[in-house]
Amino acid sequence: MDLKNIEWKATLFVCTYHLILLVFLPFYFINNTPSWGIVMSAIILMVLTGLSITAGYHRFYSHKSYSVNKVVEFFLLFFATMSFMGSVFEWASKHRLHHRFVDKDQDPYTVNKGFFHAHIFWFFQKSGPLDKSTIPDLINNKLLKFQHKHASFLSFLVNIMAFLFVGYIFNDYVGALALAIGLRIFLVHHFTWFINSAAHYWGERTYSKELTAVDNFFLAIFTFGEGYHNYHHVFASDYRNGVRWYHYDPTKWLIWTLSKLGLASDLVTIDSYISKKRLVSEDRRVFLNALQDVTSLNKQALQDKVKKISDKLDEKIINLKRLVNEYKETKKKISRIKSRQLKSRIKQTKSVVREEWNDWLKLGKEISKLAPLHTYH
Ligand SMILES: [Zn+2]
Ligand SMILES: [Zn+2]
Repeated sequence: MDLKNIEWKATLFVCTYHLILLVFLPFYFINNTPSWGIVMSAIILMVLTGLSITAGYHRFYSHKSYSVNKVVEFFLLFFATMSFMGSVFEWASKHRLHHRFVDKDQDPYTVNKGFFHAHIFWFFQKSGPLDKSTIPDLINNKLLKFQHKHASFLSFLVNIMAFLFVGYIFNDYVGALALAIGLRIFLVHHFTWFINSAAHYWGERTYSKELTAVDNFFLAIFTFGEGYHNYHHVFASDYRNGVRWYHYDPTKWLIWTLSKLGLASDLVTIDSYISKKRLVSEDRRVFLNALQDVTSLNKQALQDKVKKISDKLDEKIINLKRLVNEYKETKKKISRIKSRQLKSRIKQTKSVVREEWNDWLKLGKEISKLAPLHTYH
């Protein structure tokens, strides 16, 4: 790394606190047993600061995937500032560049320059002046302007406040500094950076095989739900990253709860039919690509089968969407007989889609035995 390109302020801050923790934490644990109060405060602050980054900096400011009440916005900003991740302007600008140029050189944290570049080293490099053209919707927000101007000072200030508060409540200032401040900042930093590194490395490329971004349940646990990163890169405006009900995504649950309390609104969701169609078209492209190199006798038959099943699935998914919309409309008009008929047609179509989907999966397995399915180039 060229010394001229080093962002000294960020580098010194991150390296210094890592070194201090490395020495101080073992020493602290040898000589102290932290009280439950201190441990719980550290966990609560970790969750509050982590969720404020994912729900605030990421899904609200960077992607505008929902609107939020001003008081909630202030809280999100307060705790996100406590995470020492710079201002919203800097964060959102870089993140939008990451989405626009993902996996290219202009992507500030492209994983193609290596795992550790994406994880932490990008943070140590000078990135030039703030590109205001990337954040035209945020640049006139007075609260954000103030935060940007005093970002470092404010981060220290809110952490000192947290330190004094936790230290005073539990009468343990050393424990507050070690766990609720030091260790908590370390964990939230690395959990967030994992989204740029590990979430572009290990997992399933469900919706786009060409992106490095992956869906990974285990990462979702550490990243407050941001582990479904392949979905997020394809459908970035969706307020959810884990779209299925069983996907672990506490950030989406927080936003949803806020909306039910009347504190958030305009939650953007991508139609599940659109995402299903995307799955089929992505698989179709991969299957046909793989079959190009196959010399097997039934190559043509397999290619035809891929086209036939994917066309049929596409058609049935559109049909299902139309029926569901129609059903919702007739339900409003209280036309019982019509809505009952529609319900049974929806049931039939769903079972056809399920059967076709099983055939599709079988076909995928058959093709993968003949040729490798390239998931990422
Ligand atoms: Zn990404
Ligand atoms: Zn994003």
